[in-house]
Formats: sequence, C-alpha cells, structure tokens
Amino acid sequence: MLALRKTAPAPGLSLDEVPEPGRPGSGEVLIEVAAAGICGSDVHVYDWTGSYEFMRSRLPVTMGHEFSGRIAAVGPEVSGLAEGDLVSAIPTIGCMKCTTCAAGFPQRCNFRRTIGLTSDGAFARFVRVSALACVPLREGTDPVLAALMEPLCVGDNAADVGAVTSGDIVLVLGPGTIGQAIARAAAWRGATTVVVVGLNDRVRLATARQIGATHTIDLAETADLSASFLAATGGRQADVVFEATGHPSSINQGLAVLRKDGVLVTAGIHAQPAAIDLTALVRNRQQIRGAHASRRSGWDVMARRLYETPEAVRPFVSMVLGLEHALDGFEHSRARDVSKVVLQPGPVGG
Ligand SMILES: [Zn+2]
Ligand SMILES: [Zn+2]
Repeated sequence: MLALRKTAPAPGLSLDEVPEPGRPGSGEVLIEVAAAGICGSDVHVYDWTGSYEFMRSRLPVTMGHEFSGRIAAVGPEVSGLAEGDLVSAIPTIGCMKCTTCAAGFPQRCNFRRTIGLTSDGAFARFVRVSALACVPLREGTDPVLAALMEPLCVGDNAADVGAVTSGDIVLVLGPGTIGQAIARAAAWRGATTVVVVGLNDRVRLATARQIGATHTIDLAETADLSASFLAATGGRQADVVFEATGHPSSINQGLAVLRKDGVLVTAGIHAQPAAIDLTALVRNRQQIRGAHASRRSGWDVMARRLYETPEAVRPFVSMVLGLEHALDGFEHSRARDVSKVVLQPGPVGG
C-alpha cells in the first residue's frame, strides 16, 4: 500500500510502497482509513526544525494521527468494536501497564506512544491501533469531518484548561487548526468576544471568522496588537488568552492584554525558550497554564457535536486530496494558503 513516511532525520517526507500492517494482534484493530488530516505538527516534522527529535529512534514511520475510518479486522480480546464500525482514534495513549496507567491516569503515563509520530499512522490505506484508542462514531457522521476529531478535542481541552465561560472575552494568538479549534470551543462555551490573531494569514483568519471568531487581527496590517485588540473589545482586556503559535514573543503579547487574575494558556510547541517578566505576572496575579493533547471524555462529547452540528466545523476543511497528492497538500499547508488539508488514502468517499 502507499504510505507517506518520515524515513530520515532530515527535511522532507516520502511516498513509499510498504506492506500492509497485517492481522491485528491481541487488543488491536485494523482500520481502513477514510480520511486523515495534515496537522501543523506534521508540517514541523516535514521541515525537521527541532522539537521532534524523539522520533529519530522510531524512523521510518508512517505519519498521520488525525483520522477516521472503518474497522477492517478485530484482533483477539477486543470488546465493543466490530468490523465495519466507523471510528476515530485518540493518537496518544498510555502503555496501560505502568502504575500511573493502572491508577487511572493514562494521560500522565511516561511510556505513551503516539500514532503517526512514534508508531505507524494513518497516511496509508490501513493503520493498526490499540482498540483502547478507538472512539466510535455515529453512523452517518461525515468521515472527512471526523478526521478533525483530534484537533477539535485538543482545542476543546485547551478551552477547559483556560476555564472559558459564558460572557468571556477571549484572545487566541495563532490561526492554525488548534487556534481555530480553540475559537470554536470558546464560542461553544458562550464567550461573547473571540479575537483571533495571525500574521500574513488571510485565509486562515477567514476560516476563523466562519467557525466562531467575532474579530480577527492580521499583524501584517497593524503594528499594535494591544491597540487593535482593545478596539475590538471596546477597551476591555481579555479574560483568557490562548497562545497557539509556538513563538516565544506571543506570550508577552498575550500577557500585555490579559486582565488581572486572568489566565494565559499556552498550547504552542516552542522551539525556543521564552523570556517573561515574572514581576509583572505576580503583581497582576496572572496564571500561565500549559495545555496539551486531549482527554478521553472530551472525545465522546465531540463525536456527538460532529454528528449533530457538522456545519459548525465544516469550514475547517479547505481541501480534500487523494493520498497520492499528499506532498502537494503539504506544500499548501506550509504556505498557509489553506486551513485544514484532508487526505483520502482509499477510494474517494471511503
Ligand atoms: Zn495533530
Ligand atoms: Zn503507562
């Protein structure tokens, strides 16, 4: 089968012919992939700019961690899943063997594996995963939108970490998929003002406005983020700021418009450390919290939202391509002239 792989610790990805994964082992299922999204982290792995050195010992690896598909085969000792079921999968799961996992905190496991980064992923016709990673989807859910489950749940989790609530003024720095998903999640929670900020990001900011942002700011058009933000909010500071850029400077830009006692959630992956004025942070009693990945409980909520309100998330997807055109999709993602690109490894409509 065709697979989009990272084969060497250097820039680039390659489309290779590889053997199919074979029968699922104990506790595993084989999924025929219907749709798989290109993530910002996939682009970082493509560029090999740092932050993904942990993959080095796992190469070659088939990429792709945001996906949906139908179960093609069920291994021994799997319950609750059957051939033909439409599912998505949580890409990062605990080992289910250590004391932390046994205590009920697989998200804190130190031996976690991530589908599509440290084990073979979904940019291929078939992917073999632990049954524990699978999240069943209602029949009739659009498989292309279901490929958004992972980033939507990451954004939703960040909104929970920031404790966004009804009436909040929210600033989201970074208009990529995670920033967009945070904006969508903030709108679902009743935030009245959601401002999304980008830099030379006309297309992705337009998507942000379609999925819940009340205002967008392109820093290519304004030198002063604080002034533009306060103009949008009628002079009020942010209750919660989200940083989803990975650029250290955005932390200070966010803190500058965050109210006293406000929360800044950082969700970006940073290649460089950030310098922060901690005295100002202390005097303003602000908090900085880290949000990463998602929690199992959020996935079931999102599965229901996708089924019930697909139109709320459809604008996330800019482009659907066959897997053979994957590298073209990556070029668009790198150029940021699209929002989400979704790849279809199998027959279109699979
Ligand atoms: Zn992702
Ligand atoms: Zn564990």
